[in-house]
Amino acid sequence: MTIPAGWEAVIGLEVHCQLLTKTKIFSGASTTYGAEPNTQADAVTLGLPGVLPVLNREAVTFAVKFGLSVDAKIAETCVFARKHYFYPDLPKGYQISQYELPIVEHGHLDIEVDGVSKRIGITRAHLEEDAGKSLHEAFHGATGIDLNRAGTPLIEIVSEPDIRNSAEAVAYLKKLHQLVVALGVCDGNMQEGSFRCDANVSVRRGPDAPFGTRTETKNINSFRYVQQAIDYEIERQIEVIESGGKINQETRLFNPDTGETRAMRSKENANDYRYFPDPDLLPVVVTEADKERIRASMPELPAAKKARFESQYGLSAYDANLLTSETALADYYETVVKASGAEAKTCANWVTGDLLASLNKSGKSIEESPISATQLAGLVARIADKTISGKIAKDVFEAMLAGEGDADAIIKAKGLVQITDEGAIASAIDAIIAANPQQLADYRAGKDKLFGFFVGQAMKATQGKANPEALNRILKEKLAG
Ligand code: ADP
Ligand code: MG
Repeated sequence: MTIPAGWEAVIGLEVHCQLLTKTKIFSGASTTYGAEPNTQADAVTLGLPGVLPVLNREAVTFAVKFGLSVDAKIAETCVFARKHYFYPDLPKGYQISQYELPIVEHGHLDIEVDGVSKRIGITRAHLEEDAGKSLHEAFHGATGIDLNRAGTPLIEIVSEPDIRNSAEAVAYLKKLHQLVVALGVCDGNMQEGSFRCDANVSVRRGPDAPFGTRTETKNINSFRYVQQAIDYEIERQIEVIESGGKINQETRLFNPDTGETRAMRSKENANDYRYFPDPDLLPVVVTEADKERIRASMPELPAAKKARFESQYGLSAYDANLLTSETALADYYETVVKASGAEAKTCANWVTGDLLASLNKSGKSIEESPISATQLAGLVARIADKTISGKIAKDVFEAMLAGEGDADAIIKAKGLVQITDEGAIASAIDAIIAANPQQLADYRAGKDKLFGFFVGQAMKATQGKANPEALNRILKEKLAG
């Protein structure tokens, strides 16, 4: 969407990211998704009187990992606070969160939109527990409550209002998603709600005007919905203001069926939540030594990997970006390079071209690829050592996709070995020239286009197996006379 002239949108995103711990943030109950309702709701989850929360160390480690990955400041001491509100899926009547002293502050993430890079500030990321789920559909006239999710550790990642349109918002979310998945702190499953976003949107009359009143559209769980919700809000707010109205600071809901947002409730202010430090939990201290230990355990991050792919393999920024978009894909590519011994660029072409296209077509992820990295390496190696031509390789690839075996077996079974014997190629060419005197005369009279005709004939005579470079060279010599 293009924003109308004279207007600017201001967007800040809050992302709730479920941490991949085995157990809940303050108890030993399992966090596994999809279990029978309320089978993972222990006494702490239920908020029964007399229970005490015990902090999950892994959740803290994950939050620190995230903070380090966005160059943020990790608080030496952070504090859990109670955030009070009344809702059926929150049995204690308060959520344990962090308020004044969050674990992560002042980070940033660099995004790219249409080749232009931009830095988005990360105000903070704090640890908190998830709430349960209210189920409306299966209960006629009533609401069911499933507390399995309650107490699952989250980090809420709050961006600065640095984002100016829906494309930047989606680029930021994708980068963030890629990062937390690569770090191994979140499974990134958006359908299951492991990674969900609240979009704060306001509009103003140009970059020098003060910020307008914002709305917050809650719990959007797909990149496309985020884009739709933001575009809808920008248009709606401009329309309201231009027709003399005012924007209410409110919480809104996105409806995926209509692509619209609608008002849900007017927004609480912080003081409505009556935040105070949770007396049941000690402040959390993260020392320099803790940070260094955690830093040492972190995998190579997507941005660093992309830079390395460009310098080590000589790839374009585009290819490097694509190949490092998922850890599994990057690993696949590096296996192909190592195992094939072929040029890194050739390997990149096969992975980003034929392989990804076929996976896209069948809706498969790289982990489900019917051709393993070592199998693809086997194919690329046969191109590199000139056993087969790049053109024949496409047929071998198709046969591999169809499950006919490894490249070598297919090449052998189908007799596809490339003809590199220049004598054999030359005699095939001689026969074709002899059989086509008219074409030869026309070619020599200046009809250059006929070169393609001779190439086609020669390839046909060799069942496509002639080495293309040798064929072109010898043909040129012979046609010249
Ligand atoms: P709350 O907890 O009430 O949601 P926060 O201070 O945590 O408030 O801010 C929430 C988000 O709103 C942040 O991502 C911030 O960047 C964004 N934000 C703040 N002011 C505006 C504004 N005028 N327009 C759009 N987004 C805003
Ligand atoms: Mg908020």
